[in-house]
Amino acid sequence: MRGSHPGSFDVAHSLRDGTFWESAGKPEDTGETYDLVVVGGGISGLAAAHFYRKANGGKARILILENHDDFGGHAKRNEFRVGSRTLLGYGGTYSIESPEPYSEVAKGVIEELGIEVSSFSKYLDRNLYGSMGRVPKIFFDKETFGADKLVDDPYPFPGGETFDLAAAGPDAWAHFIAEAPIAEQARKDVSRLCREKKDYLPGLNAEQKEDRLARISYARFLTEVAGAHADVVRLYQNASFSEFGVGIEAVAALDASEIGYPGFGGMGLETPALNNERGYFFHFPDGNASIARLLVRNLIPEAVPGNSATDVVTAKANYAKLDESKSPVRIRLNSTAVRVKHVGAAVAATDVEIAYARGGKVYTVRAGHCILACWNIVIPYICEELPAAQRDALASAQKVPLLYSNVLLRNSTAFRKLGANSIYAPSGYHTHVDMDLPVSIGDYHCPRPPEDPLVVHMSKAPCHAGLPAKDQHIAGRMELYTTTFETIERNIREQLARTLGPGGFDPARDILAITANRWPHGYAYEYSSLWDKFVLEGGETPCEKARKPYGRIAIANSDAGARAYTDEAINQAWRAVGEITKNQRTPYVGRERLSPG
Ligand SMILES: Cc1cc2nc3c(=O)[nH]c(=O)nc-3n(C[C@H](O)[C@H](O)[C@H](O)COP(=O)(O)OP(=O)(O)OC[C@H]3O[C@@H](n4cnc5c(N)ncnc54)[C@H](O)[C@@H]3O)c2cc1C
Repeated sequence: MRGSHPGSFDVAHSLRDGTFWESAGKPEDTGETYDLVVVGGGISGLAAAHFYRKANGGKARILILENHDDFGGHAKRNEFRVGSRTLLGYGGTYSIESPEPYSEVAKGVIEELGIEVSSFSKYLDRNLYGSMGRVPKIFFDKETFGADKLVDDPYPFPGGETFDLAAAGPDAWAHFIAEAPIAEQARKDVSRLCREKKDYLPGLNAEQKEDRLARISYARFLTEVAGAHADVVRLYQNASFSEFGVGIEAVAALDASEIGYPGFGGMGLETPALNNERGYFFHFPDGNASIARLLVRNLIPEAVPGNSATDVVTAKANYAKLDESKSPVRIRLNSTAVRVKHVGAAVAATDVEIAYARGGKVYTVRAGHCILACWNIVIPYICEELPAAQRDALASAQKVPLLYSNVLLRNSTAFRKLGANSIYAPSGYHTHVDMDLPVSIGDYHCPRPPEDPLVVHMSKAPCHAGLPAKDQHIAGRMELYTTTFETIERNIREQLARTLGPGGFDPARDILAITANRWPHGYAYEYSSLWDKFVLEGGETPCEKARKPYGRIAIANSDAGARAYTDEAINQAWRAVGEITKNQRTPYVGRERLSPG
């Protein structure tokens, strides 16, 4: 179990429940002092340390506290050993991409790390599966659709991790129309919505259309505006999980249109996400964990040996080097910050004291500044001196729960026999089953022949359809925290057996390992015109209220921008560092590549 693994959240939850300080002993003063302490070792925290050093010089002393046993936050690497070979998977953040263009700041960091997004596409073999006749499929189950059936997916939904419309098979439409076990009218409607360029709101101009679509769900758009059969909603209900963490009944039709969901082709609306989908895109075999590892290499070169953004993929991290007293930058894992407060009044203080729990004890350090690059929802519990209105705004942030399971298979012959590379399962335990985008980079070579072992990625968004989106996330989070690894494993075995069984798959023989990455606190909650009044009415947003600096304390992390993307984590780190340091150059001009150290 990775992601929120056992032992990573207990301290934070007892703080939330008000029980932590009852049993915690008196904090022990480590005597350590720093220029900056960063709470949270995700991409935002690592980027904050990176920016702070750029502004204040390589001698700046920085401590990063992280409650997990690894750095990177959501950007999590999964490693599998099979024989002498190491295979990688992404346990969280999948790729460099964003529905909006990367800012100069975020692009600047990516370039400094040596990642050349435009030329790195040469490491991706987009045609590999297609050349083997493997195409996206939909798995219909008998409980919901009356028959277990694998059918060509003619329109893989935008936003899915392996999204590529061009990947649909040449006969996909014919196969879908003939075989999909849904009403005949629904099959015709799917074809119409995906292929016909029809304007379903002909009397309205673009602005009026956007206003209308902002106020209804995509499910209602399909049935009430586009006149689709109810089976179309049954088919697509969970297709939005990868992007939104809720089903289409809770996704605004306007958001669906911007991403390029079926039905909007003739409406004359912008589809910015679709246009940008592949413009600025790169996927490392371990996802954006490679970005986290490159950031750590820049901060502590001995911890991640090597010199390039290609060799980082196979570099063996030396965790013993993360927290050495001689190093100006230190990363302390398994350490949960439990109290952050100015020493004296915030207006006059020269120091911030940070208490953290580690191994059953509480310790303190002091710093000139502190950046909270952890989750907004945690901050009110650890920083009680913030103004009440700000704490309320922080506490209102939600997180979208997600489960990313990586399954090491003995081979992919069942996928070959079935002609599949990615499978959408509308009512599956995991809604998506994907062979990873083939990427060979540096000394890492992705599996190619069907006889090779490979890592299959399965994802799920726990939620409860019918509730307001935030309540769905809360219910899903509880579900995820209380689901055991054994339950996840059983569901994986059953799902793969039913889906791939006709291709000769035997779970007992063919599953070699499973890593479940549990993210009860996953994506930053993104505001929705369906659920958040201020989206249509305007005014200061909760994240703007929440991220205000206070004395020597600033707030980074992707919640601070209410956007669940790597670039936002970097943007917010940049802003936070700018608030506490006068030396930061503005605008960002850090295009020179940093040599290690
Ligand atoms: C499953 C998943 C897939 C994603 N895929 C993509 C993608 O493909 N592309 C993309 O651009 N973005 C993606 N995102 C979003 C992206 O990962 C995030 O926006 C970004 O990585 C967040 O970085 P962060 O540093 O703000 O937060 P995090 O990565 O969450 O890091 C914050 C860290 O602070 C720690 N922390 C919290 N409280 C404390 C405390 N009291 N003491 C110490 N540490 C604490 C947390 O445990 C965490 O490790 C994905 C997110 C998830 C969950």
